[in-house]
Parts: sequence; C-alpha cells; structure tokens
Amino acid sequence: AIDFKWIRDNKDVIAANIMNRNSNANLNVVLDLYEKFLNLQKEVERLRAERNIVAEKMRGKMEASVRQALVQEGKNLKEKLASLEEDLVHLTDQLQQEAQCIPNITHPNVPIGGEESSVIRKTVGSPRELTFNIKDHLELGKELDLFDFDAAAEVSGSKFYYLKNEAVLLEMALINWAIAEVSKQGFKPLITPEIVRSSVVEKCGFQPRGQNTQVYSIENSDHCLIGTAEIPVGGIHMDSILLEADLPLKYVAYSHCFRTEAGAAGTASRGLYRVHQFSKVEMFIFCRPEDSNLYHEELIAIEEELFSSLGLHFKTLDMATGDLGAPAYRKFDVEAWMPGLGRFGEISSASNCTDYQSRRLGIRFRPSDAPTILKKGKSGNQTATQFVHTLNATACAIPRMIVCLLENFQQEDGSVVIPEPLRPYMGGLSVISPK
Ligand code: AMP
Repeated sequence: AIDFKWIRDNKDVIAANIMNRNSNANLNVVLDLYEKFLNLQKEVERLRAERNIVAEKMRGKMEASVRQALVQEGKNLKEKLASLEEDLVHLTDQLQQEAQCIPNITHPNVPIGGEESSVIRKTVGSPRELTFNIKDHLELGKELDLFDFDAAAEVSGSKFYYLKNEAVLLEMALINWAIAEVSKQGFKPLITPEIVRSSVVEKCGFQPRGQNTQVYSIENSDHCLIGTAEIPVGGIHMDSILLEADLPLKYVAYSHCFRTEAGAAGTASRGLYRVHQFSKVEMFIFCRPEDSNLYHEELIAIEEELFSSLGLHFKTLDMATGDLGAPAYRKFDVEAWMPGLGRFGEISSASNCTDYQSRRLGIRFRPSDAPTILKKGKSGNQTATQFVHTLNATACAIPRMIVCLLENFQQEDGSVVIPEPLRPYMGGLSVISPK
C-alpha cells in the first residue's frame, strides 16, 4: 500500500530526499506511470459501466436486428476491456516496481551528506594500551587454530570460512548470551526461515534482483536466501491487523545471513570482517507510530549495554542521509575499536523504518478505541486501522564480534581472554591458549 497520491502531492520534498540519500530512485518515472495508471483506471471503469448498460439493455424485448447490434457492441466492449485490463495489470506492476525504489522519508535531525557527515552520539571506553606487538584476528586465529579459510576457499570460494575449536564455542556462546540478554528485556526469541519469497525481500525494502544486489536468488524458484533476519521477522505479521493492546511486539531472532557483497571490492574485507555467510542475533520491534522514536533509543541503549558489558571501546553514530538504505527513516550504527585493523569497524546498526515496511507488508493495527472487530486478512474494515512502525537492530553480528574480541583481548603470550559474561556459555572457559 504505497501512498501514490501522497508521493504526487509531496514531489518536491521527495525529490530532495532522493538526492540527499544518494538514491537511484526515479521519481519522474513514478509520477508519469501514476498519471498513466489513473487515466487507464478511469478508462477501464468507464468501459465496465458501458458494458453494464449494454447488458441491462439486452434484458428487455427487442427486434432481432437491435439485439444483434447490442450483442456485437457487448462483444466489442468485452474484448477492449480485456485488453485494457491486461495493460492495467502490467502498468500496476511497473509502477510498484519503480516506486519500491523510493526511499523512506528522513528524520529531521539526520545529518545530510555521505558517510563522513555522520555525527558521533556517544563514545564508550578507551582503547586498551597494548604494549606488545599487536596481532590481527587472522594471525591470532592461525596460532590458536580457530579458522580454516583455505579449505573453505576450496569448498565454497573466497569470503567463506570454517570456524574451529574454541571459535565454535565462542560463536555459540555469543548467540546464546545475546538471546538471553535481549530476552530479559521482554523480546521473544525466534529462529527464522532462511529461505524466503523474493516478494517478501522486496516488501522489506531490499532489491532481490539487478546487478548490484546483495541478495542471493535461488535459481528456478522465486525464493532468496535472507541477508538478515529482519526479512523473515518483518514478514511474520504480513497481511495482519494487530491489536493496539498487543503492541509493542518485540522479537530477538537468530539466523544465518547470506550476502553477495557485490560492490564491496576495496573495502575492509580481510578474514572474518566481510564474508558471504554469517550468524547474527537481531532485534525487531512492531509498535505504534508515536512510539517508534522512543523504541529506536531503546534499541541503541540495549546495544550499548551489550557491547560495554563485553568491555569494548566503541562509538555510536547518527548516520548521514547517504548511508541510510531505502527503508530507514533514521539509523544509528555502532563502530568498535579493532586494534588489528587499526581503526573502528561497524559492528551494529539500528534502524527506525517507520511505516515503510509495514505499508508494503500490509501490517496494520486497530487502535483500542476503534469501533469494529477486525480479523487477520486483507479484506476487513481497514478504515479504522493504521500502519504499525517497524524497527530493527543488531544485537550481535558474530564474525565481527569475534574479530573484536580476539584483537582487543589478546595477551602478550598469544592467548585471548574471554570476557566474563560469555564464560558461563563456554563451560567456564576464561582463556583461549595456544595448543
Ligand atoms: P546490516 O544488516 O547491513 O546493518 O548489518 C548488520 C551488521 O552485520 C553489521 O553492523 C556488521 O556487524 C554485520 N555484517 C554486515 N555484513 C557483513 C558481512 N558481509 N560479513 C560479516 N558481518 C557483516
């Protein structure tokens, strides 16, 4: 349910937003297609009315020649209508396709510009003083026998990996710890499907097709591998009407994520930093529109709490317009200090998507004071309902967290200390030592 009338009535604001966000959406094409759609729809309605009049006329008694003429007229109308209805379906498709690319509107406080214009909201901790020769996670992993990139390159290709020994325990511990911590805040745990329909990917604001797509499509099917649990969690209430009393609905989901990383050449990508398949624990909230800014703050506060409890040094950023991605109204990233990389690296992202995804996914709620009882489904009385807002945020993206932990907590003797909160999830293990 993209609001085309709203788009047409606010075209200057939308054009400026498209520019600020460095989006490749083509507003003029959308407006042109919408105009054509309205005209064609009018013509189809006119022909349907005409066809009904002819059908009505044929009910009475009349001379054979008159009837014959009416039959012919009805037949002509039917043929014309069928052809125009087909055009209308095609045009609607085209319009939806083009309009999908138009990004969400932007929170007024979001800085305008590219990545460099992002504003630091908060800095937590300071870099640990390491007085010995710092190793990066690849060297540490090699000495501690934690990864196998060579075998993965043979079996799968570059940017794949085997985790081994304590790295396996660490991945499982991070998943269990993140789910347990976030559940304590009232989020329901979920494990999601990792293969979804392309249409759901699209409705969540991702492009499953095209040259630079981040999405792996499955050949001979209309399915894709998920790039993030945000997609199946967003879809869990697709085409539903929720009750206001049940909001907010908060989920914490564990899934694998699959990304083509098209166009990522030249960016930091050594070892585990940028890979094609990784595990992630993701938070997701469905809420009332008036609450979404508040829950956005809650999500970033949970991330900050999680990362500081592990002892990381990080900063939180209000991301600039050029770095938002189509569905986000506002996005807060966390970048943590990675000594081996010698710089901060992104470890999480929290987005308020307002009604961008819910409009496409058809997720509404009925305010408590609305008059009618509504059931799940597309039909019901929707006039008393509103679209929910959706938010998503990383609780723990495992490989980058492993990079962070290894590089920040390495010791002079080559061992790595496990942060306290993870030890109960690793059978009490406190140090990974060289074998
Ligand atoms: P995103 O859903 O793109 O906001 O990503 C969420 C988090 O997943 C990022 O902050 C990274 O920590 C992590 N991440 C994204 N892409 C990759 C990748 N290709 N390899 C490893 N981690 C990634």
